[in-house]
Amino acid sequence: MTQTSSPFRVVHTVCSHDCPDSCAVLVTVDAEGRAVIVQGDPAHPVTQGFLCGKVAKYLDRVYSPERLLYPQRRKAGVAKGPLARGREHEAFERVSWDEALDGIAARLTRIAAAHGPESILPYSYAGTMGLLGYGSMDRRFFARLGASQLDRTICSEAGGDAWLTVYRRKSATPPEDFRLSKLIVAWGANIHGNNVHLWPMVDEARRKGARLVVIDPYRTRTAALADQHIAIRPGTDAALALGMIHVILNEGLEDRAYLAEMTTGINQLTERAQEYTPERVAAWTGMRAAAVEQLAREYATTTPTAIRLNYGVQRVENGGAAVRAIVMLPAITGAWRTRGGGAQLSTSGGFKWNSKALEMPELAEASPLGCLGRMVNMCQLGWALNNLGRGQGSEVREQETSREGPPVEALIVYNSNPVAVAPNQNAVCKGLRREGFFTVVHEQFFNDTTDYADYVLPATTFLEQTDIQGSYGHYFVQLSQQAIAPLGEARSNVWFFSQLAQHIGFTEPCFQQTTDELIGQALDTGKDGFSKNPGMEHIRLEDLERKGHIPLAFHREPETRPFLPFSSGPVPTPSGKVELFSAALAASGHDPLPAFVPPVESRWSPQASRFPLEFLPRKADNYMNSTFANLDGHRRMETSTSGRLEMHPDDAAARSIAEGDAVLVFNDRGEVALVAKINPALPKGVVASKLDWAKLSTGGANVNTLTSERLTDLGAGATFYSTLVDVVRLDQNSV
Ligand code: SF4
Repeated sequence: MTQTSSPFRVVHTVCSHDCPDSCAVLVTVDAEGRAVIVQGDPAHPVTQGFLCGKVAKYLDRVYSPERLLYPQRRKAGVAKGPLARGREHEAFERVSWDEALDGIAARLTRIAAAHGPESILPYSYAGTMGLLGYGSMDRRFFARLGASQLDRTICSEAGGDAWLTVYRRKSATPPEDFRLSKLIVAWGANIHGNNVHLWPMVDEARRKGARLVVIDPYRTRTAALADQHIAIRPGTDAALALGMIHVILNEGLEDRAYLAEMTTGINQLTERAQEYTPERVAAWTGMRAAAVEQLAREYATTTPTAIRLNYGVQRVENGGAAVRAIVMLPAITGAWRTRGGGAQLSTSGGFKWNSKALEMPELAEASPLGCLGRMVNMCQLGWALNNLGRGQGSEVREQETSREGPPVEALIVYNSNPVAVAPNQNAVCKGLRREGFFTVVHEQFFNDTTDYADYVLPATTFLEQTDIQGSYGHYFVQLSQQAIAPLGEARSNVWFFSQLAQHIGFTEPCFQQTTDELIGQALDTGKDGFSKNPGMEHIRLEDLERKGHIPLAFHREPETRPFLPFSSGPVPTPSGKVELFSAALAASGHDPLPAFVPPVESRWSPQASRFPLEFLPRKADNYMNSTFANLDGHRRMETSTSGRLEMHPDDAAARSIAEGDAVLVFNDRGEVALVAKINPALPKGVVASKLDWAKLSTGGANVNTLTSERLTDLGAGATFYSTLVDVVRLDQNSV
């Protein structure tokens, strides 16, 4: 999609940041090859021609004077640990890519020989959502090496697994159809902040009379704009959803025809829901019983009703059960049957990429292990770096790591900033500071994690590489074409791992494949160029090159043949029905029905006697997890809550804390110094602060100093929002 008749070219790219919107981004490039404009593609039905505030100024990021432009190696004798911002380069010396690759390959070879290849651990997540950048050549490299595998559960696994237990396929109401809804429930979903391309649909629905109800402990931008904000206590979502089910079933508001035809397990669920009277639910959530009843009635008697559920809900100990209970609601009321009804957690199940061809796990057969390495959960990085392979059991180890194996001796980081985003930050930093530990970071900027690196390698942005991408918030396949040459010596993940494989001596031809070949493998294209993946058979690379985006097969004619997931059978579960009772969960020792179990870290637990406040380490609207937090323009948009601890007035008064006081937030894992901000919209007993870079925070610690490595009930995910703390005014000096 390139215009050649003017000195400017317009190139179709895709925003690769970890966001459901996966925007189509048109990049205008001048005759010198410099990107001069980024804008949303008006032809994309979800992007609709605009970008969020984070990416609208993307060229500030691409051309930032702080971009990493060449490989660097830690100078001999420079200790690992926090480096002053802007002076990080003083700890490193410039090396060529060949020197870096040779040095890294030699060190990894020595570590693997001494401790076994499983002592090498990759660490990555969705710093780029492009398929190739997210997981292709890197997976091949680590499989062939015999390295530990990373269980990538930090973001969405609890909710994803929970959804699958009920529906077995991650399908969802298309975003475009929310404009037809009469009631939209944003459940833990800050649509205006983090899913802003759904907002025009919500806006259109509201102009036609729909109501927007937000369920969220925090008064987000979306909550402030809603018709109703229900601020429940953190981690009590399962109780509320079960209370709604109780009311709906007790008052006969369910869709009996849908339940009979499409579901299994309603009798068991009815019995379970009897425990969740509005009064009990009110006691857990902090709502009034009448409000629980009113919400349930409004939900069940409005048509169509759509729930936009987002992943914050499931980052609590009880998160899997919460998502299970919430996503059963549209089955109980039959909301799936009507266009504009249903629910959306993720649309990713629509994309049937050939990930096996991309990742080639069979390469592990040629590794010294002869099989794939052990699995290490990324939410337990701190524990893994310090304890794994040392015969030290812990409450976290038995849950997730697949086998003991050797200690971790090397960490290869890309697409992630674990020092900032992984729970239990002090444990992560301690592990990275271990004598002789080897860390490589492939990044765009110096950040919290590069402060611990032996090698820092420059990475490309999505403007500087080609990739193919799906979405977890819409149903379009998109090609992201390289718009500009990589800045300096920045290189893509694909290039880096291809080169590292060759420098370490892997001779398989798959390590020399090109980006186009990898895209062909993702699409599983044959000689005719058409995709062979189910539902994507109409997609050809040359059409993507021309159009930029192509809808999935079931979404090609939305007006005449709308996609209504789960409106008719069969459902791809073992029973062929929507499973309200899960025999599979029962067989694996889990509760087959959703239940509210108060988190170990919550106001109901014994620990609350020492740390009585529930802590919300929330995400910023203008950052993407830790990405963008180093850019002045983005920081300015977050000024009102940066470095602040938001407190209910009663909690502040009980501690003699006033607006603007310096406070210390603490628990057994660590402490963070912040400034108090009184916020009466928070539930009493809840405090909130925002994820920021540790090195940009007072005292060099961010909110993850306080969070735990405990895992969710399903999916072994992170439990950021099940965190207990206490707070003192700093001048009390009483910790
Ligand atoms: S961050 Fe999300 S909303 Fe912003 S441009 Fe990227 S995909 Fe679009």
